Amino acid sequence: MKPFVIPICSILFLLCAGLSSCQQSEDYPKQHKALKKALVLTTTAPVYSFTKNITGDAASVENLLPSGTDPHEYSLTPEDMLKLSRAQIIIINGAGLEKWLDKIISSQLKKKPIVVDSASGVHIIDNDPHIWLSPRNAMIQVKNIRDALIEADPANSETYRKNADLYIERLKTLDREIMENTSALRKKEFVSLHSAFIYFAKDYGLRQAAVIQEYPEKEPTPGHIAEVITIIRKNNIKVIFSEPMVSHKIVKTIAKDLELQVYILDTLERGDLYPDWYEERMRANLETLRTALNQ
Ligand SMILES: [Zn+2]
Repeated sequence: MKPFVIPICSILFLLCAGLSSCQQSEDYPKQHKALKKALVLTTTAPVYSFTKNITGDAASVENLLPSGTDPHEYSLTPEDMLKLSRAQIIIINGAGLEKWLDKIISSQLKKKPIVVDSASGVHIIDNDPHIWLSPRNAMIQVKNIRDALIEADPANSETYRKNADLYIERLKTLDREIMENTSALRKKEFVSLHSAFIYFAKDYGLRQAAVIQEYPEKEPTPGHIAEVITIIRKNNIKVIFSEPMVSHKIVKTIAKDLELQVYILDTLERGDLYPDWYEERMRANLETLRTALNQ
């Protein structure tokens, strides 16, 4: 997909406009202080949750993708280009998720922001970017984001460190809850819409037996569907997991033909933007798994 490019002169104009408003605000100390806060731009909803819990009010955090947007394929809008040009720090999920952003950052931004790869140090399986679905990976992401913020904005290092510690404790509690509940599940195998739950399954003793879509956003081939049906029959699988905001004809057809129940499991890709969102959605997924895999 071809990204939208806005002329450099309009970026320059807006940057100049921003600068003059900085100068004007010197008479208004409160306003000036707000403008001096670092602008941190995140790419996805989980990364937004992680970052916002670390910064609290110490930095302005904005997310590049609007709620409900698929992060696998994305075309930047003129507003996105403005956000990118204003950001001092851009925090990406990494693991190959934001391929659509890499070129823009390296070639089209005049002032180069600090780019933080939150996946650094996470063991990546088969180029799969869905690392956030395991809270154990999320903890690594949080530590990477914390360290990058401390380096970029040392004046607030104590806040970032303290907030990150508290958030990591919450993620540890979430990890324990998932571990206790998944180990008690009667069934350990599942079929999902697209391959998003490998990290989650690996860390909590489950198995993603098959996926309907071989590649996100692409129609599966008849041969692949035939394979999925064989796996479902062979493993005596009774449920199939679809995703929020996605209506998939093939899921409905397979479910009807094989008499499977359809449940919604959130890949946390198209989420809302607030600090507790990640934990809330992970707990909702756990409840769904308890219902679906205990039959
Ligand atoms: Zn995905």
